[in-house]
Amino acid sequence: MSAGRAQPTLGVIGAGQLARMMVLAARPLGVDVRVYDPAHDACAGHIANLTCGAFDDADALASFAADRDVITFDFENVPAASFETLARQRLVHPGARALATAQDRLHEKRSFNALGISTAAFADVGSRAELDMAVAQLGLPAILKTRRLGYDGKGQFRLRRPEDAEAAWAALGDQVSSSGLILEAFVPFQRELSVIAVRGRDGSFASWPLVQNWHVDGVLSASLAPADVSSALQQQALDYAHQLASALDYVGVFALELFDCGDRLLANEMAPRVHNSGHWTIEGAETSQFENHVRAVLGLPLGDTRPRGHSCMLNFLGTLPDAATALAVAGVHWHDYGKAPRAGRKTGHATVRADSNAGLVSALEQLGQILHREAQVAPVIERLRRI
Ligand code: AMP
Repeated sequence: MSAGRAQPTLGVIGAGQLARMMVLAARPLGVDVRVYDPAHDACAGHIANLTCGAFDDADALASFAADRDVITFDFENVPAASFETLARQRLVHPGARALATAQDRLHEKRSFNALGISTAAFADVGSRAELDMAVAQLGLPAILKTRRLGYDGKGQFRLRRPEDAEAAWAALGDQVSSSGLILEAFVPFQRELSVIAVRGRDGSFASWPLVQNWHVDGVLSASLAPADVSSALQQQALDYAHQLASALDYVGVFALELFDCGDRLLANEMAPRVHNSGHWTIEGAETSQFENHVRAVLGLPLGDTRPRGHSCMLNFLGTLPDAATALAVAGVHWHDYGKAPRAGRKTGHATVRADSNAGLVSALEQLGQILHREAQVAPVIERLRRI
């Protein structure tokens, strides 16, 4: 820090890989970042000062926030009481309205619809009888989801036939009082897209180009950016994101997950934070989602969101492949989160960047082969070949 110049201070609640990548983006801007997490080995804590405490420990949160200019999050499920504790003391971005909206799928979908953002048809399910009523109203197939705390496809049950209601209730019915349930009509989408956008404290707004995403067992496996979409759909996604950000008076980066139904987009859910489908922006855009999030919450001017060529992000779960092997392929960028491997745990990602779609296909073919991940890259290559 240079003498006489105050260094902005940021506190991040949650110290997983999203916080870690925020720290990596914030440092060159001269920002002092500290992170807070219940886990002593949380991976952002390897590179930033970590305060250990529970997410509902008001005293610990208050003392963590005491010397921070701004507080932000690397996950959305901060208890409302903790949020209030922080907000009484400090500027907190994103704000209460955004978190409350994103924490409850029912509230979220109602908010989307009120803003003219289309979604799958849905119904509130408060009892076993209401599940039958919702099935009759929406038809099948449909998906029963917990309203709260579901992510990466967890807390979901697909109903194909009316008799599946029994099994769906057996699986999720016990969560009706704690979380609430929602039944959603199944969307026969062509593909899954997301838009990552950012809004500054002064209302300035920017978004990165639409991304196409592939999931395996409900977890993101690959993202392709920019997605090959018509300018009409790109505009619709941008309008949705802009509407939402303005209505929530949002500050920071957020993601809106979308189903591409051919002629229109349906919104699935928003993530009020930096998002896995935006990791490609670190190397694949002029300004990354992490840097722009830090800029936005601190009230700095937003950076250019234009893409640099074509990028594909590949997620790694469990044991991370060998970095040296992967780095032999030109255009590969490696991100090891420093987390102990555990089945299903996101431990790192690679972004492959190229100047053309053909170059991206070639690099992905090489990487898929060298890492024995042909199945992971196959749908992306197949898509790229059709562009
Ligand atoms: P979510 O936790 O809501 O993001 O859902 C996880 C995944 O389940 C999504 O990425 C979709 O692949 C699928 N999914 C969720 N909701 C629906 C729906 N209403 N219709 C079809 N597929 C869905």
